[in-house]
Amino acid sequence: MNEQNIFIVRCGEVALKGMNKPYFERMLVDRIRARLKKINNGTDLEVKRHEGLIFVRTDKSYDKELIVKEISKVFGVASVSPAVEAESNLDKIGEAAVEYMLDLIEKRGVKTFKVEAKRADKNFPVKSPDIGRIIGAKVLIGCKVLKVDVHNPDVLLFVDVRQGVSYIYDAKVSGFGGLPLGTNGKGMVLLSGGIDSPVAAWMMAKRGMMIEAVHFHSYPYTSERAQEKVEELASIVSGYTGKFRMHTVNLLPIQEEIVTKCPEEETTILVRRFMMRIAEKIAEKRGCTMLITGENLGQVASQTADALVVTNASVTMPVMRPLIAMDKVDIMEKAQEIGTFETSIQPYEDCCTVFLPKHPVTKPKLEKILESESNLDVEGLIERAVESAEVINIYPR
Ligand code: ATP
Ligand code: MG
Repeated sequence: MNEQNIFIVRCGEVALKGMNKPYFERMLVDRIRARLKKINNGTDLEVKRHEGLIFVRTDKSYDKELIVKEISKVFGVASVSPAVEAESNLDKIGEAAVEYMLDLIEKRGVKTFKVEAKRADKNFPVKSPDIGRIIGAKVLIGCKVLKVDVHNPDVLLFVDVRQGVSYIYDAKVSGFGGLPLGTNGKGMVLLSGGIDSPVAAWMMAKRGMMIEAVHFHSYPYTSERAQEKVEELASIVSGYTGKFRMHTVNLLPIQEEIVTKCPEEETTILVRRFMMRIAEKIAEKRGCTMLITGENLGQVASQTADALVVTNASVTMPVMRPLIAMDKVDIMEKAQEIGTFETSIQPYEDCCTVFLPKHPVTKPKLEKILESESNLDVEGLIERAVESAEVINIYPR
């Protein structure tokens, strides 16, 4: 036994699904398999659903920690535990538990433990609390240095007794939860180099949405380095979502039109409306049914309630704003957790800062904005911008 590494994966919200549960589980299995494939080319690797859990088995040569880390990054995974298995009888479970604890004594200097047993197989002749006591006694005999501590043990040893085979483990590494990628359509994220939009993309992907991105720059006012920063951010996000397309659009021709033909204080809101419309057009072409932004109520002048109404009125496609009601500190914390923060705070110029008005309107009126736009060839500008879009394939680093 245990010639392989075994990992028990718990499915979180997927487990709550009703009729569609098999579909979600299959998707989750596929996602885990795809994610692990890049390690050892996925040879000698098995991912299987069983009794509401997913079991991953790998050859011993795999790096256990790496496998746990990769599995925990898959959306839909609630938690994962490296485990060992034993035939479902108390002698075999006891032997495996002793071996397991001897290993922990050697590796972590463990001194106290407690057994938490659960009998998933209700036909197993011994009840859960008794299994716990019996296995605990066997461990005490097999590991002389150990003591039981029911309140604050160094190790909580889980024994999960199932039909035929039982599992022993101590650690549960948390995943992000959510739903498997690909179970909820595809969205086009407006990705800037800031803190917010990568988090917004990540949050929608966590709910199962595939993503593509569009990024606006104002080259040569914005530098190549600024664009590289965005590619780096996108790449970090793709560490969760897998490869995706990023469309880049030079907004400078539109910005120049706006600053020469429209009131200065409306520049930002007008630019934002163009961004949304261009993103919508590219989204339609690419089969995306929603736009995603990092907008957050009240954060800046262009994100007041009135400004959001005016921005929103530029498109008909639904716009997802997963950060809308979050506080900045919480967004920053999330950015840190997913690994985008350090890149986001690098000080490179953004296209929005190129023609930043001194006193942007905070209470724009749609009629007034439409009037300003009537000075512009809106359709033509959008069409040319969409045609000029370039595509970059974003891969995990
Ligand atoms: P972020 O931190 O995501 O840049 P922000 O707080 O700087 O957001 P804004 O600059 O008002 O806010 O942008 C609001 C949203 O508009 C962003 O979250 C993003 O979705 C989109 N956006 C802004 N600038 C760009 C850009 N250069 N390219 C693509 N999308 C952009
Ligand atoms: Mg920004």
